[in-house]
Amino acid sequence: MIDGQGRPIRYLRLSVTDRCNLSCVYCRSAACGEPVPREDLLSLEEIVRVVQIACELGIDRVRITGGEPLVRQGVVKLIRMLRESCDIADLSLSTNGLRLASRASELRRAGLDRVNVSLDSLKPARFRWITRGGNLDDVLAGIERAQEVGLEPVKVNTVVMKGINDDEVVDLAHFALERGLTIRFIELMPIGEAIRSGLWRSAYLSVSEVQRRLAMELPLLPAEPTQGGGPAQYFRVEGSQGAIGFIAPLSAPFCAHCNRIRLTATGELRPCLAHDEGLSLREPLRQGDLERVRELLIRAIREKPQGHGWKQDQPTTTTMADLGG
Ligand code: SAM
Repeated sequence: MIDGQGRPIRYLRLSVTDRCNLSCVYCRSAACGEPVPREDLLSLEEIVRVVQIACELGIDRVRITGGEPLVRQGVVKLIRMLRESCDIADLSLSTNGLRLASRASELRRAGLDRVNVSLDSLKPARFRWITRGGNLDDVLAGIERAQEVGLEPVKVNTVVMKGINDDEVVDLAHFALERGLTIRFIELMPIGEAIRSGLWRSAYLSVSEVQRRLAMELPLLPAEPTQGGGPAQYFRVEGSQGAIGFIAPLSAPFCAHCNRIRLTATGELRPCLAHDEGLSLREPLRQGDLERVRELLIRAIREKPQGHGWKQDQPTTTTMADLGG
């Protein structure tokens, strides 16, 4: 499908829960409210129905996200169901990695193609502080296991924050390059806890600054985009299978090439990360009105906003945990 701005829309980000076993300082806090009641979440069957219709409309890339998708009961079953009943060229999952070591093998067997793992620090105490309690070793074991079972390319996502973890960008790049991982440095976005707490104002750092610092230590060579066709600009380093990417939603917005829509765990279609408006699919799904679901999908795509508008300082009230990043 082509949206109202002429952009082909091929990519669906599917949040399967708003719950998370971490509470990252920039993402969510207790002040962001309680998780939604379980009965409000779409069932696995309802999710599959939406994805089937989305695929008929031209979606062929699906990412399972959250909250933390690996805390959603039945997530492996969901992957199997999606594989069996939808025509998806690229089925991926974003995770904080805490439960990845124990689940990687069954995820792969169920038909998952690849994973992205969030990792903002290689220092155990700092990692624990950023994530409010996470154990770094569990995430590192998860990354290793994902590579072993072939959930590749494994991409590591790092949100860079001035004065918090920006002194680690070179170490993180080496970590990725030595292991043949793709690491993407991402700008802190004015959404969720980052804007509520004021962190965004003090810690935002453009990734062009990160790139400048890395280029002083590593000879960065422009590279082809990796699998996924996302918004990152990629570089490689001679002699490593790994890659380094930069994602700059604020300093170099890529809205003109945005190819995605989002579905929240409660069944709301969100055509743009930065806009709180959405269209709910839950009622028509529960009434069995799949024609209405199709109409709403088409409408959400047609009405996708031109851009995120963050430059005009319009923070949203939704958190990334609601939308899946
Ligand atoms: N739990 C999974 C994970 O950790 O990847 C998936 C959901 S998480 C909300 C998705 C991504 O959003 C994570 O990489 C996280 O770092 C990022 N994120 C959350 N809030 C953010 C913010 N304010 N700015 C930039 N990235 C953010």
